[in-house]
Amino acid sequence: MPEGDALHRAARRLQPLVGERVEVETPNPRAQVGRIAERLDGRRLLSVEAVGKNLLLTFEGGTVLRSHLRMNGRWSVVPRGATRRGRPWLVLRGSRLEAVQWNGPVLELHTRAIRRLGPDILTEDPDLDRMVSKLRAGEQGRALGDALLDQRLVAGIGNKWRSEALWAVELSPWRPLGETSDAQLRAVLGAAAGQMRGSLEGRRHTNRVYRRVGRPCPRCGERIVSRGQGDANRIAYWCPGCQR
Ligand SMILES: [Zn+2]
Repeated sequence: MPEGDALHRAARRLQPLVGERVEVETPNPRAQVGRIAERLDGRRLLSVEAVGKNLLLTFEGGTVLRSHLRMNGRWSVVPRGATRRGRPWLVLRGSRLEAVQWNGPVLELHTRAIRRLGPDILTEDPDLDRMVSKLRAGEQGRALGDALLDQRLVAGIGNKWRSEALWAVELSPWRPLGETSDAQLRAVLGAAAGQMRGSLEGRRHTNRVYRRVGRPCPRCGERIVSRGQGDANRIAYWCPGCQR
């Protein structure tokens, strides 16, 4: 599943198209329902930014295209007119390059910027205070691991990084928010931000708990366990020995 860091890489690859008038096509019939091509073709692309797990492309006239990659979507940037096989969802063609969105998923046009997402974990200087107050504003009986995946509270953290960040600061995904101090919230958010920023910059990360069920914890030797968590039943991974 593409997480925030993958989206930031895609946003970087698309930057050369910013400022250009783009030709827009939606070759996949399933992508044609929103008449995106008709509405965007020939407009100037003003910006491409990753916000949480969304890519927001702003066009002149104030139209924003939101792309969410779900499980299998991806963006590629290739020379204009490069041969390809298959039908991508979206092609944005500039003078030299074209951006191609495959296995699309969510493509939506908005007339105003989308701001229901929480503060982005991957900005240069993540706003940890605002994230903490968002986490505090909701139901405090909610499990910490579940809340970290709520994109309205903090945008960009996916299953892998919430598991790895919680391990790094020795907190259980099952700990209720109400029993977690502000300092502990800041610590886990800071750990996620640091790990994800590292991944974005190409640093290698060795998983400690994520997808390591039954293996010994690298810190205390207890066996890693997993269980579905939250309404979406996303699998939480943790060490019952040292994560409290
Ligand atoms: Zn442990």
